[in-house]
Amino acid sequence: MDIRGLQTSPHGLWVFDNDGTLYRGTETLRKAVEEKMICFISQHFRISREEAVEKRECLLRQYQTKYTLIALKGEGIDPDLFTAETYLAVDPRTCGIVRDRRLHEVLSDLVGEKVVLTNNPAPFARMILKALGIEGLISHVYGMAELSYLSKPHPSTFRLVQRAQENDIPVVYVDDHLDNILAVHALGVSTVLVGGGNAMKAPGYHISSLNEAEATYVGAQRAIV
Ligand SMILES: [Mg+2]
Repeated sequence: MDIRGLQTSPHGLWVFDNDGTLYRGTETLRKAVEEKMICFISQHFRISREEAVEKRECLLRQYQTKYTLIALKGEGIDPDLFTAETYLAVDPRTCGIVRDRRLHEVLSDLVGEKVVLTNNPAPFARMILKALGIEGLISHVYGMAELSYLSKPHPSTFRLVQRAQENDIPVVYVDDHLDNILAVHALGVSTVLVGGGNAMKAPGYHISSLNEAEATYVGAQRAIV
């Protein structure tokens, strides 16, 4: 049995995280976006690159967030402008994110609606989906703005999952972060942790990746110990 056997209702819902779940090798892309952010801060505040690095760290601490967009939004900067000049100014292909036929095949076989729930801006996630060649398989992308600039695993970011669960819609939630898996599993939803780390700590199912031939269950439904 692999992931395709988990949910077989045409009315069911698959909820995927983006980075690290639908594609691996997130580090190069993250660094490229971060560099654009430093340039943006440098130009906006008219400071040197070194000062911009410091300013960014200072703002992240001040706003108690991992996300530069959230901190700069607090400083009155337009999130759409910031997204356009940073997240959307990188080319995913040059960061190794390219068409993934195997992933397309696996997702095509999943019965039900497929959506993406990400802590990044939705237009950025859509750009990634396009580079992977799977944008036509995903009906909605819920990103930072749609999540009211709160980040997973904040409980309100999983409202979509919770609502589906309450309406007896079969849901499968797929993510590479243990904290997100734990939060969603606690709602009584089937979860799939993607990737090598934390497998022993994760409730629900665990797969090594979505696009590899060997991406079958390496763990069965197990209780948290
Ligand atoms: Mg992730």
